[in-house]
Amino acid sequence: MRYAEEEIKAIWLDFFSKTEYGLTLSRIVDEYPDEKSLIVSFADLVEYNPNFAEDFLKYPDIYLSRGEEAIREHTGEEEMHIHLRISNLPRDRRKDIRDLRSVHLGQFISIEGIIRKATEVRPKLKLGAFKCSDCGGITYLVQEGTRLQEPHKCAHCGKTKPTIRFTLSIEHSEFVDTQKVEIQENPENLRGGEQPQRLAAYLEDDLAGILVPGDRVALNGILRAKERRMFGNVKTTEFDIYLDVVSIDKEKKELESIEITEEDEEKIREEASKGDIIERLRDTIAPTIYGMKIEKEALLLQMFGGVPKKMKDGTRIRGDIHILLVGDPGTAKSQLLQYMAQLAPRGIYTSGKGSSAAGLTATAVRDESGRWTLEAGALVLADMGLAAIDEIDKMSSTDRDSIYQAMEQQIIAVTKAGIYATLMARCSILGAANPKYGRFDPNRPLVDQIDLPTPLLSRFDVIFKIVDVPNPEKDRALAEHILNAHLVGEMLQLEEEENILVEEYSPKIDPEFFRKYVAYAKRNIFPKLSDEAIELLKKKYVDTRKQYEETHAVAITPRQLEAMIRLAEASARARLSEVVTKEDAERAIRIVDYFLKEASTEEGIIDADILYTGISSRQRSVMEKIDIILRKLINEKGFAEEDEILEEAEKVGVERLKALRMLEKMHREGLIREVRSGVYKYV
Ligand code: ADP
Ligand code: MG
Repeated sequence: MRYAEEEIKAIWLDFFSKTEYGLTLSRIVDEYPDEKSLIVSFADLVEYNPNFAEDFLKYPDIYLSRGEEAIREHTGEEEMHIHLRISNLPRDRRKDIRDLRSVHLGQFISIEGIIRKATEVRPKLKLGAFKCSDCGGITYLVQEGTRLQEPHKCAHCGKTKPTIRFTLSIEHSEFVDTQKVEIQENPENLRGGEQPQRLAAYLEDDLAGILVPGDRVALNGILRAKERRMFGNVKTTEFDIYLDVVSIDKEKKELESIEITEEDEEKIREEASKGDIIERLRDTIAPTIYGMKIEKEALLLQMFGGVPKKMKDGTRIRGDIHILLVGDPGTAKSQLLQYMAQLAPRGIYTSGKGSSAAGLTATAVRDESGRWTLEAGALVLADMGLAAIDEIDKMSSTDRDSIYQAMEQQIIAVTKAGIYATLMARCSILGAANPKYGRFDPNRPLVDQIDLPTPLLSRFDVIFKIVDVPNPEKDRALAEHILNAHLVGEMLQLEEEENILVEEYSPKIDPEFFRKYVAYAKRNIFPKLSDEAIELLKKKYVDTRKQYEETHAVAITPRQLEAMIRLAEASARARLSEVVTKEDAERAIRIVDYFLKEASTEEGIIDADILYTGISSRQRSVMEKIDIILRKLINEKGFAEEDEILEEAEKVGVERLKALRMLEKMHREGLIREVRSGVYKYV
């Protein structure tokens, strides 16, 4: 230590008198106890006296307690317990959890990450007041650690245990609010494939109750060790570490944890101005996966997202774009999801089957000390980022219930075991699902073949159907592509010189730069629709719906219009343009047209109803007709015979085969039951 202990207090006093913190202190005195912390920015301390600041980091316990004494002296308020909290450590002072070692014990450190778990706030005894069973006098004892400590001797009558007993007097004791959280390293700072590490952190008094799971923060505090106990409470020489939190810095801007220097910004602007930026960004996505250009383009736009809007009435329109890939097995869905989760800032890959107890949304569990702990699931951890959910059709029923809210309102409300919390889940969802019956049956509507409820499906902006149908030309190209990819892999293994082939399978844009590009655009670019873009989208919507007059099919619904707006905004963002141009709108229309054609066509006619209900509007009218016939026949004689139904159907213009198929469908869906072969009744 450069300074003696008495000197430290004097320096703090000098600091308060020479800086504006002195004024802040008098304000806190006025507000006390609503306010009880003086927050000092580390930079101000460095500016005042760099040596003092450096020493503070090494010996925080002494510096803080002398500082709090100095506060009492400066204010003259002996009864007030005003905390001294040093915050805002510069980024290069921050440590990774994985790098913490024994040398850091007792030092002031800053840990950046995401809050994964948080317990409820509970009072903890700080100063115990113990009543003597003999004289009734009260003996005070400061509590340290987790075990209740009783005095041995009464301070009044002087008698000792076991002659006397002590009882804790709650009304004379002092308590402090406490909360335990678990912080996890930011996924974006992990080097490929590393598992994020976690650290327990304790918060006291006015710091308790501020944090909820999913918060992106830097926790500044003192690293401490606690001995590990074996079975039977035997102490060991091994220690666990935890952080005694002194201050919290919350992330204020979007994706703040990705640092963008002025140089980066210049390069980002330069890349964007070169033209064909969207194509080049797209080709950076999973170059080893063959084809799927439109799908990749949509995934690219998803990363940028549209612009969220707040309406006057308080409602919020999300900007995030949700995409679902449904397809035959072995069509690289999982590969694509994993790739996107790695590439996207704040990307998380998880499976609907759920590896973690918290599942997709959040759970409340009891921790080892019996406190309820709220743990964030994938959607909360991916807040402001991308949640890639593989096998989304296999998610648990609790997740199924709360994922709706997450997709539309982008929050997750937890009301369980007395915990009422609202967690933010402002993420875009990239889901993948396999067909229910193994492979797609081209003759059945898509929704019939996915095990997901309709309301959930309709929340996806884009649904891509990926089928694996043999096609010699495509198969040859795909085989060549995969074989070459393996060849490239072998070459890279041998560290052979780069050649053209290697180049083709390498991302066009370095992934590190790519992430910065996305973060920069999301933070700074909020494009507005141009008149031309609005005209084009409106025309597209109205014209597409007009086909109804001919085909009696609703080709497009307001949901797809919203999807197009979001995609167009994302396209402008990807170009770093503040204006959504006609070209952006065209790009969006191309994507929506493409997926509607793939996913919701019946006999060449696009029908949005097929997509979400599995019944086209034309089929619906067939169903209505059959329904009327059934009702009539069943009313007349209590049941309806197949032959009769088909005959009647033909009279109203429904072909026998179509009527038969509809009967099968209604039967399959449990609307009617077959009492005897070819004889039907309502269920
Ligand atoms: P899914 O999740 O759709 O069942 P996977 O992602 O597990 O499929 O893919 C299976 C394998 O097939 C992967 O190794 C993947 O690389 C390969 N594959 C499938 N389609 C393609 C493609 N279009 N280009 C390159 N590889 C592909
Ligand atoms: Mg898969």
